[in-house]
Amino acid sequence: MKVVKFGGSSMADAGQYRKIREILLADPDRKVVIVSAAGKRYSGDHKLTDLLYLCYSHVKYGVDCSRIFKMIMSRYLDIQSDLDLDLNLEPELKALKKRIDAKEVSREELVSRGEYFSAKLMAAYLGFQFIDAADWVKFNMDGTVNQEESYNALRGRVTPGAGAVIPGFYGAMPDGTIHTFSRGGSDITGSLAAAALDADVYENWTDVSGILMADPRIVDDPQAIPEVTYDELRELSYSGAQVLHEDSIFPVREKNIPVNIRNTNDPQAPGTMIKENFEGDHDPDRFITGITGKKDFSIISLSKRGMSNQVGVLYKVLKVLVRHKISVDYVPNGIDNVSVVLPTRAIEKELYTIMAEIKQEAEPDTLEVHHNIAVVAAVGRKMAFRPGISGKIFAALGESGINIRMINQGPDELNIIFGVDNKDFEAAIKVLYNSFVTK
Ligand code: ADP
Ligand code: ASP
Ligand code: MG
Repeated sequence: MKVVKFGGSSMADAGQYRKIREILLADPDRKVVIVSAAGKRYSGDHKLTDLLYLCYSHVKYGVDCSRIFKMIMSRYLDIQSDLDLDLNLEPELKALKKRIDAKEVSREELVSRGEYFSAKLMAAYLGFQFIDAADWVKFNMDGTVNQEESYNALRGRVTPGAGAVIPGFYGAMPDGTIHTFSRGGSDITGSLAAAALDADVYENWTDVSGILMADPRIVDDPQAIPEVTYDELRELSYSGAQVLHEDSIFPVREKNIPVNIRNTNDPQAPGTMIKENFEGDHDPDRFITGITGKKDFSIISLSKRGMSNQVGVLYKVLKVLVRHKISVDYVPNGIDNVSVVLPTRAIEKELYTIMAEIKQEAEPDTLEVHHNIAVVAAVGRKMAFRPGISGKIFAALGESGINIRMINQGPDELNIIFGVDNKDFEAAIKVLYNSFVTK
């Protein structure tokens, strides 16, 4: 049995619904379907989820959201009439609008309706059972998922051999109120469903033919990566390649269920297979799996003469950050200096307090902070066995005049991470891609 998830662009209009039906008909094992809210139909179009967040902000500040709600309604009613469905969502949409006007709908409930109505339409179109995510994705009070309870609840609802459609992105808190994952969270719902039902594979259908070696918005037509390990995927998605939500691998990985990223608009393409490991080396010329990164980091650097002989300087810095509940991404260091690299938004509000506390606790000779840093990661399970890769990376960047602000490598040698100025981010990714990908 296969659990299949379709993302926003795959759910954008009636034409996409038809493609999904073909994909399901092509393989009778594709029985349990997770869907996202309708995404963009063309560049410049709106994602339903964004419209719902916008609608909530209006209501919160006492501004009428009727115009936005009309756009939301017509997106769904258009699909309903294009597909000539028996279902009529209009009364339910209107009832929702009444409750919004009466301020009875929480932010999370409102934004979850994007996936809810998508799933209702898709279930009617396919003639599959609709299973509400609120009836089985159970959150604990701290916002983590109660896996055992959730898995049991889903198993009790799915009829073996029959088709089911489930909305992604949300579930229920212990008191029954709706709670959502972070953005892109339908990937997590799909992973939980695959784990709950012991699926043979979790297929994640999107608008690209797999995980690409670099962000297609930066590099033109990047190659797809045929095979990625769970560890590499974790590195890639954490560092920026947001094809798959970074938390979505945990449930499937626990059960050793492979993930296959596929393209709804090109169903013949094999996409990317993600597993614990792969036997043999099917692609000996490729030693970097992917290149990714994110902008807007800050580096706090401090130096202290004789620091290498003193106990606990780094500890004192980290203690301040722990006190402010700030997690650190990287800690590159020299002999008498150390820096911590973290997202700027995590520190910007309390920056001056944090700097003052570090000064007081660690008594450095110098203490500086630099903003507008982008972190770029080259990820690859084969890098550990290849000497000279970092040399090649830094030579390529140097030849292009890109200044490197920090360098870091994880102990498992799965990645090489470096910082550049935000303005050099796109150029750095392009340079790396062009120097590593043999055409
Ligand atoms: P969905 O709506 O199907 O969940 P997402 O928009 O969340 O799809 O993710 C797919 C998008 O991720 C692609 O359209 C692409 O623009 C972007 N992306 C960023 N980095 C990569 C990468 N390395 N490989 C593939 N896609 C990437
Ligand atoms: N619709 C939600 C979002 O846009 C969840 C998802 O698409 O995975 O974030
Ligand atoms: Mg997504």
